[in-house]
Amino acid sequence: MQARWRESPLGAGRQVGEGAPMSTVPPRPLIKSLTLEELSERLAALGQPGYRAKQVMQWIYGKRVKSFAEMSDLPAGLRQQLATEFGFSGLDPIRTLGSLDTTLKYLFKLDDGALIEAVLIPASPALYGEASDRRTLCISTQVGCAYGCKFCASGLDGWSRNLQPGEIVDQILRVEELCGERINNIVFMGMGEPLANFVNLMRAIAIINAPWGVGLGARHITISTSGLAPQIKLLADQPLQVRLAISLHGATDEVRSQIMPVNRKYPVATLLEACAYYIERKKQWLTFEYILIDGVNDRIEDAAELVRVARKVKAKVNCIPYNIVEGLEWQRPSEARQDAFMAVLEAARIPATIRREKGHDIAAACGQLRRQTLVPTNAGHPPVIGVR
Ligand code: SAH
Ligand code: SF4
Repeated sequence: MQARWRESPLGAGRQVGEGAPMSTVPPRPLIKSLTLEELSERLAALGQPGYRAKQVMQWIYGKRVKSFAEMSDLPAGLRQQLATEFGFSGLDPIRTLGSLDTTLKYLFKLDDGALIEAVLIPASPALYGEASDRRTLCISTQVGCAYGCKFCASGLDGWSRNLQPGEIVDQILRVEELCGERINNIVFMGMGEPLANFVNLMRAIAIINAPWGVGLGARHITISTSGLAPQIKLLADQPLQVRLAISLHGATDEVRSQIMPVNRKYPVATLLEACAYYIERKKQWLTFEYILIDGVNDRIEDAAELVRVARKVKAKVNCIPYNIVEGLEWQRPSEARQDAFMAVLEAARIPATIRREKGHDIAAACGQLRRQTLVPTNAGHPPVIGVR
């Protein structure tokens, strides 16, 4: 099972597990979808010397050029050939939305016109085990989402396609370029279900983690999943020590199935079994994400069930008051209700934090900006709007 994703042809996005949608293969692979090893092989086949691939990666990830033409120490013929064979960037920033609390949300247009989002959270308390998560970027893995959680904007229009590895990686490069700062942490909590795009996700993480690539330590990378049990096990068998967050949002089948259809396929017991496997293999704590939705999962008895479940797999809990999505019926509970819920966790000594959602005023929950944006089909680079 281990490293199964490596067998996949470049950019093909073969799915692991059942029922997950297949990726659409773009006409040309993106250069940022390639690992150093793959590029070396390709360049060797073209008769290029062994150091060329490192040179190309240095231009992309070190010097951050934006075209093959800028790679001035490469032979002109090779630059031309690379430009014919590979796309350079698959993302076009079309809108940036700033928040009063400095959260910044970026909307990108992909080559096929699809829209995705990335959210920069400049300073947040330690949520996933770091001493301080200084500049966290929340990135997308799919266009839309097939899992249809009832509270989420990303799933409202269904799933369109998987992101290519290069489109995932490029969100980091483009945001660093736009904000002028380095990102310290990556959370896969944007649009889409990361584990349903397993092959491309693993490839993107390898590039993000590599010293020749973005160079971000695995412990600064958190994957969030709605609970695809087989893929959680598969992830446990991968060598990288990335962090894992589970979107629990309900600790019983009754509550969870009401808001997360995926629970009918992988009920709480199945999910917990996969979590136990993960922590056993990884020797690593998990985080349960728990959105507090008024009258749905925020009762005292819900907190008691959450205690029971969190204890079973020694999970840390991040509670997040629901971020209201226009057109959906759900509400966030009052602060008094949130505090009462947290008090139950505290009394039971469950390590728990409540994240008063940053970016609430700019619709930072995944998929919201995309839904709110009316984009002309030939959109260029509209000016940044409303930054801070
Ligand atoms: N598909 C993955 C990752 C993307 S969603 C997953 O479900 O984990 C990232 C997180 O945002 C999840 O915990 C999700 O439940 C949460 N989320 C979605 N809509 C939200 C909203 N309106 N308010 C607060 N959190 C939301
Ligand atoms: Fe998809 Fe995650 Fe939103 Fe559920 S919460 S619809 S899995 S993006």
